[in-house]
Amino acid sequence: MSLYLGIDLGGTHIKTGIVTDRGKLIDTESIATPLGGSGAELARAMRQVNDRLLERQELTLDDIESIGVGSPGIVDTQTDSVIFAGNLRFRHEPLGAEVSQVHDGKPVRLVNDGNAAAYGESIVGSGRGASSLVMITLGTGIGGGIIINGHIITGYAYGGAELGHMVIDLDGRHCTCGRRGCFETYASATGLILTTQDYMRNHPETIMWALCGQSLGGVSGRTAFDAAREGDPGGKAVVNLYIHHLAVGLGNIVNSIEPEILCLGGGVSHQGDFLLNPLREAVYAELIPGTVEKTRIVQASLGNDAGIIGAALSEVWTEHSSTTVV
Ligand SMILES: [Zn+2]
Repeated sequence: MSLYLGIDLGGTHIKTGIVTDRGKLIDTESIATPLGGSGAELARAMRQVNDRLLERQELTLDDIESIGVGSPGIVDTQTDSVIFAGNLRFRHEPLGAEVSQVHDGKPVRLVNDGNAAAYGESIVGSGRGASSLVMITLGTGIGGGIIINGHIITGYAYGGAELGHMVIDLDGRHCTCGRRGCFETYASATGLILTTQDYMRNHPETIMWALCGQSLGGVSGRTAFDAAREGDPGGKAVVNLYIHHLAVGLGNIVNSIEPEILCLGGGVSHQGDFLLNPLREAVYAELIPGTVEKTRIVQASLGNDAGIIGAALSEVWTEHSSTTVV
């Protein structure tokens, strides 16, 4: 059995895990992300947390085949560098080499974090056994990835698969990317909160005010769903509008890629069938006539572990699966 380290580099925490070649996560550990840290500082924090994890499992770096790192931003997987990551203030950061250097020269692969999570789901999660999968993570923004025949689809120069930044409203909400009306400004948890607040301003009677402590600042991605489950017309209206926004974006994805599995992760996806049942119907209504409704829309099954497992095994499994690709 070969062992790998998978690291999920997040804005607040660096999470790391030991993963077997079968995709089993043995143990995990985390450390606060050094704020504003350079690539070298982040790499040293990774070494620190990995040492803690390995020691607990009575292992050393010698027992590890290689290390995979899932990073936010646009990642060049040939040079293992981060081309651009706004949150980390990285431009052309050779993070893979920096991580390798502090890990005694171990081979290190760098992959986009959304792609890593999609890869994890595709090999041992909700897409296990499927030929293609698109994962959409409904969090602060919208992350995601496209996996086809075991390959992560990143585009010609790694700038592709930015599924959260397809425009669904030409004159819509301003997005952090500079465009207007991006999918993520409506369908992320942040977008849902904005939609909820907009509705509440015009509807003092909705029970959503009571659910959020009479303050718009108390609104969360759960407020409208909680109200809808209690039968509140306002909650239902917001949830229906949210499902419409989500379905238009997901419909675009099915119309352009038609994956076997469309899997939803992130906080909002925890609404389960209460969201998924009406959502499936709404997405299928967006498909071009004649499309057979074969894409299965499911909830992600690995939670936060997907990114660790996917980062640890991305290239390993891609190499194996490449034998089946023409
Ligand atoms: Zn955008």
